[in-house]
Amino acid sequence: MIGLIAATAAGRQAAERLTQAWPDTRRYEGPAAVALPRAFSECDAIVCFLAVGATVRLLAPLLAGKRSDPGVVCVDEALRYAVPVVGAHAGGANELARKVALVLGGEAVITTASDAAGSVALDEFGADVGFAVEPGSDLAAVGAAILSGERVTLSADATWPLPPLPPNVVSGPPEPGVPAIIVSDRTDVPGHPGHPGLSASGGLAVVYRPPSLVIGIGASRGVPAAEVSTLIGEALADAGLSPRSVRLAATVDLKADEVGLLAAVRGRDWPLAMFPAAELAAVPVPNPSETVRIAVGTPSVAEAAALLAARAGAPAGPFHSAPSSPNSPNSPNRPNRPSRPGEPELVVAKRVSAHATVAIARARPRGRLAIVGIGPGARDLMTPRAAAELRRASVVVGLDQYVDQVADLFRPGTRILATGLGHEQERAATAVSEAAAGRAVALIGSGDAGVYAMGSPALELADETIDVISVPGVTASLAAAALLGAPLGHDHALISLSDLHTPWEAIERRITAVAEADLVACFYNPASRGRSWPLRKALAILAVCRPPETPVGWVRDASRPGEAVSASTLAAFDPAGVDMRTLVIVGSSRSAMVAGRMVTPREYRWAAPS
Ligand code: SAH
Repeated sequence: MIGLIAATAAGRQAAERLTQAWPDTRRYEGPAAVALPRAFSECDAIVCFLAVGATVRLLAPLLAGKRSDPGVVCVDEALRYAVPVVGAHAGGANELARKVALVLGGEAVITTASDAAGSVALDEFGADVGFAVEPGSDLAAVGAAILSGERVTLSADATWPLPPLPPNVVSGPPEPGVPAIIVSDRTDVPGHPGHPGLSASGGLAVVYRPPSLVIGIGASRGVPAAEVSTLIGEALADAGLSPRSVRLAATVDLKADEVGLLAAVRGRDWPLAMFPAAELAAVPVPNPSETVRIAVGTPSVAEAAALLAARAGAPAGPFHSAPSSPNSPNSPNRPNRPSRPGEPELVVAKRVSAHATVAIARARPRGRLAIVGIGPGARDLMTPRAAAELRRASVVVGLDQYVDQVADLFRPGTRILATGLGHEQERAATAVSEAAAGRAVALIGSGDAGVYAMGSPALELADETIDVISVPGVTASLAAAALLGAPLGHDHALISLSDLHTPWEAIERRITAVAEADLVACFYNPASRGRSWPLRKALAILAVCRPPETPVGWVRDASRPGEAVSASTLAAFDPAGVDMRTLVIVGSSRSAMVAGRMVTPREYRWAAPS
């Protein structure tokens, strides 16, 4: 919840605007000296329509730490500036200030150094992937080293889908005296605080614990919590693994009421996954037990549960089905097959105490493929979400001209893989293989990346081991329609006239169907390979079913420099001026020009209010 505090009439009016814009706000009335402490204890973030100085005085005694304090944003009386005062990153104040500025029409005044340099703040680095910062890490000093352009090393024991770091951060093992960033679930890596290797030589290090480990637990009736907890602790310690890297514990569903097991897991604040015995029985494991099979119905609990939970690393969602069965072609019945990138490995085989068993699996990171529509051209027709994805990716793949169009948005250190026209398949394959290697990739397309663009070739190649995020964009037909009037007010069809990938006979059949159905037709790629005959032919087919005065609108370079908008009729329209950067919209028999604008009526009978 966002708390709103206002002391003046202008502030109260602006607070009202925020209340209308956002559902999750609460007004704190009364003197700020009373309202601010209340909001501070009750809200995730606060917007104060107060001077920064006054706010700072009231906040000072309340501050506890940047990880727990709510973010606080001050807005000046004239609503020109939104200033994050505390909690810029963890408290979300920078983000909130940007949103406030958007709603009130002002400007966010961001003062944190890493944001100013367009780079990632180290205390947030990997947070959305689930990284935990190892206590004792030199966050501030290594962050300062990155900002000042010093050499910093980055070593990771797996490829995680992280945002890019600037080019002075080089991949490689820690070097004596050089600040190091280390991503590892191991406690024995050089650079780990307390490890003699690097800290002895005076180096600075930030160590991140990735959420890579899954603990499988088996137990017999009445197992004491302390026994389970000790066994887990020993398994981790002997293997040199950090408990901070544990994402999940897992067991068989028969243990749902096993008090000691549950208490041990709860004591460590880990979520617990439970699987039916039959599912566990299907997981190949190195140490099956016949006794366990007879008692529980699966020859392995700890090893099988650890492997299964580590495999099911996909986030919940409609398309993330259950992990593939071990007999599917993707996972032949062999234990610990490391070849497939999505497959987990068993890092600690079954360890046994009197009443418990424990095993540890390591999940493979899932790469992240964002399919991003950058809109028709103009920057303000690109969605904020698309811009955020371009800044989230460490690898950007796209057609050179589109990449150039948005290159100012990329963070320093972003790897750009741009190719020319005609390399669609190659771009799709590159994007998917970069994501399959675990990276954060943005595959960009103009307009919407799923409309005659890169979305489908990429998703034809992508398997279930990567996460896919699609960001819709303003497609050319919408951009063109907005310039022409309201030509898409009723049913319409999008048709590409490019016969590069579709035989012309198929295209012609579709145009005929559109003509017969009296749909408004939007023609993409209207001058396929520089030829105008496909458009002439298309117009002739439509003219059979539509009156000669049917409006035809066309827009070249919608929302780009040189934008041209024109309208004509089926009888008079000359396709000669149309090229590949043009979109043509042919009205239905009901479309008309009204005051110079192309309008397709909705044709509903509006119900009279009763
Ligand atoms: N994914 C894109 C379409 C790619 S196909 C989208 O959603 O818009 C390329 C065709 O789209 C071009 O031949 C042209 O017909 C149309 N197009 C794309 N951008 C355009 C723009 N800014 N103005 C007019 N037409 C455009």
